[in-house]
Amino acid sequence: MSESLPPRRFPGSGLAKGLAVTLRTMTRRTVTAQYPDVQPELPPRTRGVIALFEENCTVCMLCARECPDWCIYIDSHKETVPAAAPGGRERSRNVLDRFAIDFSLCMYCGICIEVCPFDALFWSPEFEYAETDILELTHERDKLREWMWTVPAPPALDPAAEEPKELVAARKTADKYAAEAEAEAQAAATATAAAQATPEAPPTAPGTPPAAPEAPPAGSGKAAPDDTAPGPEGTP
Ligand code: SF4
Ligand code: SF4
Repeated sequence: MSESLPPRRFPGSGLAKGLAVTLRTMTRRTVTAQYPDVQPELPPRTRGVIALFEENCTVCMLCARECPDWCIYIDSHKETVPAAAPGGRERSRNVLDRFAIDFSLCMYCGICIEVCPFDALFWSPEFEYAETDILELTHERDKLREWMWTVPAPPALDPAAEEPKELVAARKTADKYAAEAEAEAQAAATATAAAQATPEAPPTAPGTPPAAPEAPPAGSGKAAPDDTAPGPEGTP
């Protein structure tokens, strides 16, 4: 039984290969980031930290319920809002007391941001919040609100894209109201013009009897005033 021999190597071929790799690498453009002297250019959708826009938060608790790590802590209480108009009903609303995210547990899945129905949570590309104490990685409401200042502006809309449904609906409603207002204005202008075009009746001389009332149209069911008809009982 014959064993296969290893391929024959020329003396110095390994050295030549190594030098070739070195030369190739030397001529390649460097990609080393000189962080922290130079800040990296991060994509706008970078998942750095979660920011809270608490003005939009209605304390619906959806984010806390859907978080797979249970690292969102929300406390709230109910408040009664007086009726807006006399005779109206009082309403109760949730008031946010605490909103915190523990970034030592968070796995940056983004589910909380996706499920928030009121656009209260956003990704910020900030990532420089390492701490020596793990407890400091629980960011409370004020800190989460501060991150909002680092959230990048949304990208511009694609001019060739289909118009969003909300804008189409809003524009249709605005057009409908504008058409109604224009029709009303035209009707009012026509009525004013007609009133101005009608000649005024000449003043009647003193002692002239008033004009007889017009006979109603045939078939209206009303009797025409008759001069020959007898008056009420007792009158001549
Ligand atoms: S990103 Fe994911 S893990 Fe982190 S708080 Fe949101 S839902 Fe929880
Ligand atoms: S889902 Fe949004 S609105 Fe609801 S509690 Fe969370 S952040 Fe607030």
